Amino acid sequence: MKKIYNFSAGPSTLPVEVLEKAQKEMLDYKNSGMSVMEMSHRSSLYDEIHNEAKEDLMELMGLDEDYELLFLQGGGSTQFAMIPMNLLNKDDIASYLITGSWADKAYKEAKKFAKPEILASSKEDIYTYIPEIDESKMNEKSKFLYLCVNNTIYGTRISPEKIGKLNKPLVADISSNILSEKYDYNKFDLVFAGAQKNLGPAGVTIVALKKDLIKETREEIPTMLSYKTHADKNSLYNTPPCFAIYVTGLVAKWIKKMGGVEAMEEINKEKSKLLYDFIDNSSLYKNNVKLEDRSLMNIVFVTGDAELDAKFVKGAKEKGLENLKGHRTVGGMRASIYNAMPIEGVKALIDYMKDFERENR
Ligand SMILES: *Cc1c(COP(=O)(O)O)cnc(C)c1O
Repeated sequence: MKKIYNFSAGPSTLPVEVLEKAQKEMLDYKNSGMSVMEMSHRSSLYDEIHNEAKEDLMELMGLDEDYELLFLQGGGSTQFAMIPMNLLNKDDIASYLITGSWADKAYKEAKKFAKPEILASSKEDIYTYIPEIDESKMNEKSKFLYLCVNNTIYGTRISPEKIGKLNKPLVADISSNILSEKYDYNKFDLVFAGAQKNLGPAGVTIVALKKDLIKETREEIPTMLSYKTHADKNSLYNTPPCFAIYVTGLVAKWIKKMGGVEAMEEINKEKSKLLYDFIDNSSLYKNNVKLEDRSLMNIVFVTGDAELDAKFVKGAKEKGLENLKGHRTVGGMRASIYNAMPIEGVKALIDYMKDFERENR
């Protein structure tokens, strides 16, 4: 079998153990003679998969019974619309912290349904830092503050320390760092994550929200885009993405087995430190992100020469280090080292970086 390390930002690498388990159960899930892909979503066998995945995720996130966790479709991007549609009326204000293109897209989508304001933006500095979260600068009438906690493209994150207790409700995109380190998710009123970054395969989006946010909303909202529709039916209003939920559930069990979010955090800090330390001590590579805002998940770096960057990515691929090219809007390189990336992968990348530096000085 060909073995590579996959540094893709998403869809991204999954734990080998999880893939093996899914493979083992592929043709015959628990002696049913069926694959999970072929099963009725109304069957008791599927019910168990669905509810265990939900319970495990809520447990890992440390969410109490004030929260409902939903399995939705449409990716993180659909949440950009569902959030304002469900939480705001058309003249309501909400505040957005613009820390990258995903936050900017969410803000622009919100404009279609309400009156969002920009609290602060780091666009001028190509999103290399997280602007201050100053609640006193928010419009008094603002209904919530929207954050993108980990900025997948720019390699920044809002660290847990920066998320204090706010008076306003907090809504956040946690697509690319869910369960990667300890956040007090009970401080948030709604969080969402497309699974394909740090959680599972593409096709399911996790939304966890306070139950008191689930209510009849604006009449014109399509049934499928109302949180209440899905919450009332335990995310089984219509056919859910059963297989994606199943694999996501396997990943949740894998995280639990590995020691939970605390264990993920420890290893993620070790992995990212290895790479950042190497970059900071090298004379060829550079990471331009403000130190305290560096992401543990997506590590961006450049050589300062676009041609050399391209050569780096090409050579890496030949060494089995895949998908290191930076996002098309920023160039350079990006190593996404999510929970499922073993430390050996990071070490292999650093070895290659050393060799490349020596050969291209
Ligand atoms: C990838 C990503 C999205 C978009 O997710 P889709 O599921 O492709 O719609 C949104 N936010 C963040 C932070 C992301 O990394």
